[in-house]
Amino acid sequence: MTEDPDAARLLHLRGAVLAKGDPLAPPLTLASMFHLPGDPEPGVPGYGRGDNPTWEALEAALAALDGAPALAFPSGMAAISAALFATLRAGDRLLLPSDGYYTPRVLAARFLKALGVRVETRPTARFAVGGFDGFRCVLIETPSNPGLDLVDIATVTGAVRAAGGISVVDNTAMTAFGQRPLDLGADILVASDTKAASGHSDLLLGHVATRDDALLAAMREWRTLSGSIPGPFEAWLLHRSLMTLELRFARMCDSAEALAARLVGHPKLEALSYPGLASHPHHSLARRQMARPGFLMGLTLASAQAAEEFIAACPLIAPATSFGGVHSTAERRARWGDAVPPGFVRLSVGTEPTGALIAAVLAALEG
Ligand code: PLP
Repeated sequence: MTEDPDAARLLHLRGAVLAKGDPLAPPLTLASMFHLPGDPEPGVPGYGRGDNPTWEALEAALAALDGAPALAFPSGMAAISAALFATLRAGDRLLLPSDGYYTPRVLAARFLKALGVRVETRPTARFAVGGFDGFRCVLIETPSNPGLDLVDIATVTGAVRAAGGISVVDNTAMTAFGQRPLDLGADILVASDTKAASGHSDLLLGHVATRDDALLAAMREWRTLSGSIPGPFEAWLLHRSLMTLELRFARMCDSAEALAARLVGHPKLEALSYPGLASHPHHSLARRQMARPGFLMGLTLASAQAAEEFIAACPLIAPATSFGGVHSTAERRARWGDAVPPGFVRLSVGTEPTGALIAAVLAALEG
């Protein structure tokens, strides 16, 4: 595998700003008030809803990873909300994936529609069909959660821009080590760092990143005015977690690739979806657009009962929603109403030793 130069840069980023005697790891600053005599000054923290040095250390790391200024938010949905509320006005048209993570659709239906935004949806596998004329904002999720269909980011973001719209790419499932949406033309990157970026299933956070100064300023203003700010401790934990992201992501993708290869044609599976497999409908796009095929896969068993029995039988799979943690996790997505077969299991491959994980999954499938 080619080494990602950003992994080494990230680990030594803070070195550039350290004075003699400073801690190598950023301090955790718990503060609502800062010492502020006289007039406020740009760059000097004043009040905790606007500034926090621990957020800044985190945002510097996120910016180095995504290749653009970043802003931290208290969850992935808070980051997505910032991108949508900072860009949309009454009368604008918004396009969402019909089969991506469901909460943005609920948010749009419940709140954006009421403010006069016109909301439309399309399946990820046919996202470009119909073009992008007239859309103010287009949210792309690739791979889609949970179906793992892909969107050609460069083609779609180029078409959205040509039509005068703003493209937002959700990079949650890939992280910067798997996919670089801003290099492929996205205006805004959003991510839930609750998943692989933090990776230890112990916090919620999200972020946005953009190379557009006006969009960055609008999302920062949204954060300060709405109060949708991250907690400093969570920011500190995420900064710490980012230092091992490259290692964790590499193990998770290595294991997922090895496991998928062993599961091809397994008699207990009615379908197996993984972008790294030649049988995946968007495999050639995956090879072009993604540095690695990711750590998520879809396993379709014969029934809901067979799926539950498989999850319960595997000691190295925790039954849990969400994904991207060090522990492998799995769940039947139909239990949340996703449009997938009752026996469809979304498996998030963790950092367990690869051989032990494969042996445990194969044994659990045998029942
Ligand atoms: N985007 C995707 C692709 C997700 O899967 C999720 C959560 O599952 C989110 C965004 C929302 O993230 P959070 O739960 O941190 O708000």
